[in-house]
Amino acid sequence: MNDAAPNAAPQTFYLKDYKPFGYEVESVKLTFQLSPNATKVHSAIRFSPKADAEDNRFFLHGEQLSLISAKIDGTPVTARLVDGGLECDVPRTSFLWEAEVEIDPAANTALEGLYMSKGMYCTQCEAEGFRKITYYPDRPDVMSTFTVRIEGDEPVMLSNGNPTGAGEGWAEWHDPWPKPAYLFALVAGDLVNHPGSFTTKSGKDVELNIWVRPGDEGKCAFGMEALKKSIKWDEDVYGLEYDLDLFNIVAVDDFNMGAMENKGLNIFNSSCVLASPETSTDANFERIEAIIAHEYFHNWTGNRITCRDWFQLCLKEGLTVFRDAQFTADMRSEPVKRIEDVIALRARQFPEDGGPLAHPPRPEEFQEINNFYTATVYEKGAEVIGMLKRLVGDDNYYKALKLYFERHDGQACTIEDWLKVFEDATGRDLSQFKLWYSQAGTPRVKVSEDYADGTYTLTFEQSTPPTPGQPEKAPRVIPMAVGLLSPNGDEVRATEVLDLTEAKQSFTFEGLASKPVPSILREFSAPVILERETTNSERAFLLAHDTDPFNRWEAGNALAKEVRVAMVLDGAAPDAAYLDALEKLVRDDEQDPAFRALVLSPPSQSDIAQTLHERGHTPDPQKIYDAAETFTQTLAQQLETSLPRLYAATTVEGPYVPDADGAGKRALNGRILSLLTRLDGGEQAARQYASADNMTQQYAALAALMKAEKGEAQSKAFFEQWQDDRLVMDKWFALQIACAAPEATAATAKELTQHPLFSMKNPNRFRAVMGALAGNHAGFHHASGAGYQLLAENLIALDSVNPQTTARMCAAFQTWKRYDSERQAQIQAELERILATSGLSRDTHEMVSRMLSA
Ligand SMILES: [Zn+2]
Repeated sequence: MNDAAPNAAPQTFYLKDYKPFGYEVESVKLTFQLSPNATKVHSAIRFSPKADAEDNRFFLHGEQLSLISAKIDGTPVTARLVDGGLECDVPRTSFLWEAEVEIDPAANTALEGLYMSKGMYCTQCEAEGFRKITYYPDRPDVMSTFTVRIEGDEPVMLSNGNPTGAGEGWAEWHDPWPKPAYLFALVAGDLVNHPGSFTTKSGKDVELNIWVRPGDEGKCAFGMEALKKSIKWDEDVYGLEYDLDLFNIVAVDDFNMGAMENKGLNIFNSSCVLASPETSTDANFERIEAIIAHEYFHNWTGNRITCRDWFQLCLKEGLTVFRDAQFTADMRSEPVKRIEDVIALRARQFPEDGGPLAHPPRPEEFQEINNFYTATVYEKGAEVIGMLKRLVGDDNYYKALKLYFERHDGQACTIEDWLKVFEDATGRDLSQFKLWYSQAGTPRVKVSEDYADGTYTLTFEQSTPPTPGQPEKAPRVIPMAVGLLSPNGDEVRATEVLDLTEAKQSFTFEGLASKPVPSILREFSAPVILERETTNSERAFLLAHDTDPFNRWEAGNALAKEVRVAMVLDGAAPDAAYLDALEKLVRDDEQDPAFRALVLSPPSQSDIAQTLHERGHTPDPQKIYDAAETFTQTLAQQLETSLPRLYAATTVEGPYVPDADGAGKRALNGRILSLLTRLDGGEQAARQYASADNMTQQYAALAALMKAEKGEAQSKAFFEQWQDDRLVMDKWFALQIACAAPEATAATAKELTQHPLFSMKNPNRFRAVMGALAGNHAGFHHASGAGYQLLAENLIALDSVNPQTTARMCAAFQTWKRYDSERQAQIQAELERILATSGLSRDTHEMVSRMLSA
């Protein structure tokens, strides 16, 4: 009940309409009587009217609830059910609101609110799931303490905060920290814990637990260590201490997101916490470590200081992503982390920023907030904080953060509050910088240079293309980190941050003996697209000599792109000088293996399509695929004599350890193996598959074999070995589609949707198949249109089951205007077909409408 009418244009919410709630919530007491199809929730909430309220309408959100009774101060009242909740006449003094509702967790396949995952009760309340649990002012600026009683026959029953009592069939919890309802959590089920402990810097002992289903106990040790490292790091770097006696993490199989930072009770998608050497790759380990850190860091940046409203989502997410990236850089390798993040930013955020779904990090309107958990809010939000830190310097950054925690602890804040802290701590005017939060689109920065009589001049011109609703953009503050190299490779000017503030601006460097080679946008100091006329030989020079590791990689990456673009547009052969440079680098054992692996990893085919599009060409996915294949084959041949030695030299001996050094070596070893497999018919890969004792090597061997169409036996064996492990099975599903040839991709994916282990109800499995389809660039965009059709059919089928995951996966179509008119017509037809589906969710309706209207 109370859902938007089918296909009616849903309501739009605007930042400018913000009004505080007219009541304080002094305390919340909830009692749950658990039952799969008929859970009763009794709420007792003390409200008091605010003296200065501009609006004292008493409105409580509620969706899909059956109201049994409502009382005020013990007297039954009649509440008016209205769209999205209820209204009631209430006293103008403090009063106790009580309501009893019934909900159906077992029928909740949308996985928002209280739902069931394989017999276990769990919750997901961010952003607006709490309103599916009981009637409540479900908005982040309403903060209160919560007391929770859970009644049921589950062996383990958890909620936020500290345990205050338990007995046969019941458990009680109290969270002393005021929090918004989106941080509420409840878990009940047959769970076992992997325990740990941590003593905080002030000497408080904290009990730590990772709760999993029986059978998964052996996959918790790494997560527990990551949690301890995260707690320690936040004390050491930000001075922030944990504030409860207990910190629980629970792994859940059916989960829409990666993980959720509920106060004291983090709930994780099992793929983001369970790990073992036999079942997880190096990439899985790194991601798990980062996500555990991310959710833990939210305890301060998100929970103690939260968002006033959902338009401010990047206040907590941008900052917390930035903090988890700092953590990973400290735990592993700073340059490697930066390169990985920039690859991800370009793959996910740049296409969003350049397409119909573009929005500023702080959007000004939405229909469904779930659709704004985007790369722009998260990753660009983090880039904006990185720029701020660069502009004010490290000391000022930490000074401002200290002030932020002192001034705003316990509050629900805005971007204005955040920037004011920096202004007050540094004396700097950030009004122009604030444009990063309000303007969408990726700025283009055109660079030109001039050299005369020892003076070198760099001139920058910035502009940002129009985005939906924002035809014109004002110049932003762009921190441009620049270093200069002499022609012999020495650094003649160390990195300096130039503050671009105007549309066109020049900077001069005096006293240079000869024309330098500039290294611009070091460390990727701003999320912009650099446009500069340069030669491949200069790129090769920087790949060999740049003292900034990020820009060394960037030079190689730019060179790789140029070579691919020339192959696609002119049918050119792979550039011999580039092949030589690659060979030299790969064979240089002095170089960091992780760095060599990154340089050897080709730019994605989608990235080449985007580059062609930006230069005014219409990308042909098949040609891009063919160029990639030709290039890799040629590279394998060029390296033929070195490959066996390189393979042996990069093979990690001894027991598997998921650390950064081993991971770097294995990444390079995997790249070498995939090249070798193109020449040796898969002999080495088959040997590695047979002898591998860890998933990283087993998976790398399987992937190399399948890509070469020689992996049938191993794929079968892999299935036999792992069919009972759902996370490994997700890899098996995805890999078959990722390795399929373009003409076979859609058929392979379609066949897998018929597999007995495919399920619409498990977001991980659905994403494994449909995400892999969308990620196989040439296969998804195959001229037949079969990829588009298959995705649309499955999104239509999923929408009634799980709108949130459907809407997010719709974004696979967001780059549709890049392609030729036939493909555009095919995609448009599929988008229109989705939009015409009767009963379409408001989540999907909004996403598809935005893509069609651009
Ligand atoms: Zn987060």
